[in-house]
Amino acid sequence: MKRIIAVANQKGGVGKTTTAVNLAASFALTRRRVLLIDIDPQGNATMGCGVEKSQISRGTGDVLLEESDAASAILPLESVPGLSLMPSNQDLTAAEVRLLTTMAGRELRLRNALKPVQDQYEVIIIDCPPALNMLTLNALVAAQSVLIPMQCEYYALEGLSALVSTIDQIKAAVNPELELEGILRTMFDPRNNLANEVSSQLIQVFGDKVFRTIVPRNVRLAEAPSFGKPVLQHDKDSRGALAYLALAGEMLRKDDEAVGESEVASPLDTPPGAEAAGAESDRPLN
Ligand code: ATP
Ligand code: MG
Repeated sequence: MKRIIAVANQKGGVGKTTTAVNLAASFALTRRRVLLIDIDPQGNATMGCGVEKSQISRGTGDVLLEESDAASAILPLESVPGLSLMPSNQDLTAAEVRLLTTMAGRELRLRNALKPVQDQYEVIIIDCPPALNMLTLNALVAAQSVLIPMQCEYYALEGLSALVSTIDQIKAAVNPELELEGILRTMFDPRNNLANEVSSQLIQVFGDKVFRTIVPRNVRLAEAPSFGKPVLQHDKDSRGALAYLALAGEMLRKDDEAVGESEVASPLDTPPGAEAAGAESDRPLN
């Protein structure tokens, strides 16, 4: 697992924000210090954390325009211990337009701004807008890996190849360390044959880059943002909450395997509930 993870997919409504907020909250529960960066002018991650987007004095837009340093734009969230937020709102659209008229280094703004603060966090998650624009580019240049949430629908694979080739281009041009963290199946309904078919194709193409954890369609996940809370704070026993805990657990386990750590894992390494939820099977579910 890389420290700075961009949650990206140019397709709208696939579960990016739900994933960014709830994965961040799941890591925070393991007592890791986590920073969630909202780089979407819709400000959904901001609202989902209970921060009123019209009230923010400094946010990601100010950071991108170099009108604020990152530290001054970060709010610790009292409701979720260990989680901090760099909020955003529609001002980010104006910031993007101004960035577009900047010539040199406009794609490096977030990356440079994070340098002085990034070591204070064990995990930094960036919630991207539904576009491959200058904002997403800033996120992908700052990130070490990309987590792609996707709904198993007919056109999903097509959009995925555009995103993967963008990632390859960014890797070749500006950010050689950028990796695919994994592809996450969201809003999954195992009764839907097409979803199972697309899911199998996904595994054929991307193999173990597809997370074993599957996020089911779950009403608790959909209603939590209206309370300004991650689902863990709304209904910690819901299938949605357990799925995101399981995802955090899967990422931490993969990380341990990759590093080849021999020490016995502390109970904090796997979030509570993650084992219970378990990684769901890759086999099509009928
Ligand atoms: P955008 O592209 O607009 O930023 P997004 O990719 O961030 O969208 P979300 O906002 O996370 O997608 O999700 C879209 C909608 O689907 C929201 O209303 C959200 O509450 C709902 N949703 C997301 N995941 C689930 C789920 N697993 N079960 C039920 N509803 C979900
Ligand atoms: Mg979103």
